[in-house]
Amino acid sequence: SKAKLFDEKKDIRATFKDVAGLEGAKEEVQEIVEFLRNPERYTSLGGKIPKGALLVGPPGTGKTLLAKAVAGEAKVPFFSLSGSDFVEMFVGVGASRVRDLFKQAKEKSPAIIFIDEIDAIGRARGKNNFTGSNDERENTLNQLLTEMDGFGTNTNVIVLAATNRADILDKALMRAGRFDRQIYVDLPDLNERREIFEVHLRPIKTKETLDLEFLAKQTPGFSGADIANVCNEAALIAARNGKKAVDRQDFLDAVDRIIGGLEKKNKIIT
Ligand code: ATP
Repeated sequence: SKAKLFDEKKDIRATFKDVAGLEGAKEEVQEIVEFLRNPERYTSLGGKIPKGALLVGPPGTGKTLLAKAVAGEAKVPFFSLSGSDFVEMFVGVGASRVRDLFKQAKEKSPAIIFIDEIDAIGRARGKNNFTGSNDERENTLNQLLTEMDGFGTNTNVIVLAATNRADILDKALMRAGRFDRQIYVDLPDLNERREIFEVHLRPIKTKETLDLEFLAKQTPGFSGADIANVCNEAALIAARNGKKAVDRQDFLDAVDRIIGGLEKKNKIIT
């Protein structure tokens, strides 16, 4: 059903404060926030507002969060869908979903459309994959290109898309007037991990003031999503042990547990 595929989140509470680190990426999307807040300022001088930007980076680094924060900062509706929703779709359905999505966003403009895992539909055409139904994927991609080209300069809908494989995307997507800006969202460094801990410790009841530098040092290679998981897991471990507050050892146990999970995941991939 429609509702399952894309939902207009009415209560977008994410703002840049929820996005730790990623200073460069935030700076780049800040411009998009300005466009959405005040489109006339730009178009009245004859400028063309960009139609789309590609958020590129590894899983769990905050691409979705950043897109939501753009909508939250600009106070505009957020429409989203995931490329993986289009896998194994009946003929014509993918294209009509895309058409619907753009129609809804235009009606509510200014607005953000977010397409997660765009590589699932935006893979270079003509290179067959194993999933079959390649024609339908191409139809969906073509519809997406058509919609973006069909935007007038005053549509005021900006499309953000996320991928961790920009290299396999159809070059047509990156052409001028489509996703002609790429914004890199990398794994956090030590300092950024400390900041991500800070954000995700906000709702956690901790026993002592935790040494965030220490926690950041225990988590090299962790994504923001992994760190969010650590904080949640630590609270669950403490609760399971009947504690009244979460302590340092709970965090260390949670880190071990997440590392265990990551190792398993990597084993499956390789
Ligand atoms: P995927 O490629 O797997 O879709 P993503 O890059 O879109 O991942 P998100 O879904 O935005 O990642 O991140 C998942 C969760 O991890 C977020 O909801 C948030 O709780 C946490 N997170 C990730 N990055 C950050 C960050 N930079 N600051 C704060 N929280 C973060």
